[in-house]
Amino acid sequence: MTNIVQSLRKHVQSEFAQSAVGYLRIGLRSFFESNSWPYLSAQAALGNLGIAVELMLKSFLAARDIQLIYKNLPFEAQAFLSAFKDLPPSFPWRTFEIAIRSGRYETIGFDESRARFYVFVPELKQSLESHLRFLSQHRNAAVHSVFPSFQRFELEKVAFAALTIVQCLMKSEQFRYTYVLTDEDRKFLDQFRADRIDRVKRAVEKSKKHAATIEHTSSCISVDEWGLYVTECPICGCDGILYGDTEHGFNEDNEPFESLDFFAYEFHCDECGLALEDNEELRLAGMETCFDRTGELNKWRAQFAEF
Ligand SMILES: [Zn+2]
Repeated sequence: MTNIVQSLRKHVQSEFAQSAVGYLRIGLRSFFESNSWPYLSAQAALGNLGIAVELMLKSFLAARDIQLIYKNLPFEAQAFLSAFKDLPPSFPWRTFEIAIRSGRYETIGFDESRARFYVFVPELKQSLESHLRFLSQHRNAAVHSVFPSFQRFELEKVAFAALTIVQCLMKSEQFRYTYVLTDEDRKFLDQFRADRIDRVKRAVEKSKKHAATIEHTSSCISVDEWGLYVTECPICGCDGILYGDTEHGFNEDNEPFESLDFFAYEFHCDECGLALEDNEELRLAGMETCFDRTGELNKWRAQFAEF
């Protein structure tokens, strides 16, 4: 009988995957065309890639458990999905199966989808989060309004994120043949990585020139958020801010038993203007991307009572 739930999960996952790939193809076509026709295709590219990314993330989550993609699923529907074989014969499971098949329940939004995706693929968070955060901030304008302005690089970051996610999905059985990277996709990915090296070099050179005009030798910043971390700017030596996440964990083998680490994915220095957009750019500029915050464990425990 659990075949009914498995078949439903396959159906939902497949529907999301097919829709996602449809939007991805249109988004990438608009993106590549936007080289020649920037004003005609850029907004369409961003809008379609934004929808594609959200649907890909939901398809990925649904393949693991379709409950992961819903917001406030009724308890009866949860019981049907997680304990079908224990339900009495009188349980009206068809009602809930039809409701799910027909998309009657509200699904989670873009931000929640990516937060849940990272739980399964934490290694992609540092390389994607800065790009997906940009997409989160601009996708609604791209779909529902007039997109005021854009920089080519910002659109490239979104295309890079979309292609990275589809490659991640293609590693699993459910998605293996859903999408095949084209020669144009591969060429773009290679070019994006090569351009990133040049971009960091240019950013570092520009910041060095600016740093030479700074009269003071240091400035101190104090922040009190788990999503921010102050570190020394590699160019001017002043305090700059890293954006990222602090994660609490337990270490089975080493002391201390508990750990608190900050994983960075963006850096900004207000003094010399250095701005680095993802963990790969941080590495290229010679910066660390992971910082030990174990010394702040007491503060963490005080804030999050369950620890
Ligand atoms: Zn600096």
